[in-house]
Amino acid sequence: SRVFRPTTTTVEVGAGVVIGGPGFVVAAGPCAVESAGQLDSVARAVADGGAAVLRGGAFKPRSSPYSFQGLEEHGLRLLEEQRDRTGLPVVTEVLEPAWIERVAKSADILQIGARNMQNYPLLREAGRSGLPVLLKRGLSATVEEWLLAAEYVLLEGNPNVILCERGIRSYEPSTRFTLDLSAIPVVKRVSHLPVIVDPSHSGGRADLVRPLALAAAAAGADGLLVDVHTDPTSARCDADQALTAPEFAELVEALERVLYAV
Ligand code: PEP
Repeated sequence: SRVFRPTTTTVEVGAGVVIGGPGFVVAAGPCAVESAGQLDSVARAVADGGAAVLRGGAFKPRSSPYSFQGLEEHGLRLLEEQRDRTGLPVVTEVLEPAWIERVAKSADILQIGARNMQNYPLLREAGRSGLPVLLKRGLSATVEEWLLAAEYVLLEGNPNVILCERGIRSYEPSTRFTLDLSAIPVVKRVSHLPVIVDPSHSGGRADLVRPLALAAAAAGADGLLVDVHTDPTSARCDADQALTAPEFAELVEALERVLYAV
């Protein structure tokens, strides 16, 4: 909490990329790594569009076991290739403690997904890795439960935790989840950890990404995690929420205007 540490923790995730500092950091890329060609084109698009971090899931925790589950090891190798080519640090999800060592070789940030926010063995092992950990808020987690989950990582001596608000379950069906914008100032008041926002998984719709992202920036978030695809209609995972490359570049420009204004 801020009682323990009054200043915001800054997390360095690659050469010159700092989350929680004065800069606003945008991580972007495909929801799932699908092929070498797909990741190459999306990585080029997000690097050109202003992303500082490349996102991409090699392991996909899908609601249905019949949906595409990710390229796994092959996906990790493709992420490494794009990290080498673009110079962008990589954030990717890890689902099991046994995979942490392997995923850590391909990633600069370990993502703990919403469905695993309270998977304590996973949190402990991620903490022991020493890598920055991006901790998504659970689908129905209170802010207190989310912050206590972060403590599992911190207790392993790993101070590099980035919180990610990604929407919570509500009674409202018109969006996939309800983005809890108020969690940003609430968490920032009580916690020293940086907070970023995922406007893609919260709304579940591409047309909502821009307004939610701009609102998150205005509300004080330290960055964003955004789904981008160069051909959203062919995406094998969460196609409805992916921005196209031009939409992403336009969003980054609009973010600059909002951040300047606040
Ligand atoms: C993701 O970011 O790829 C993802 C699955 O998100 P969440 O855990 O928030 O559903």
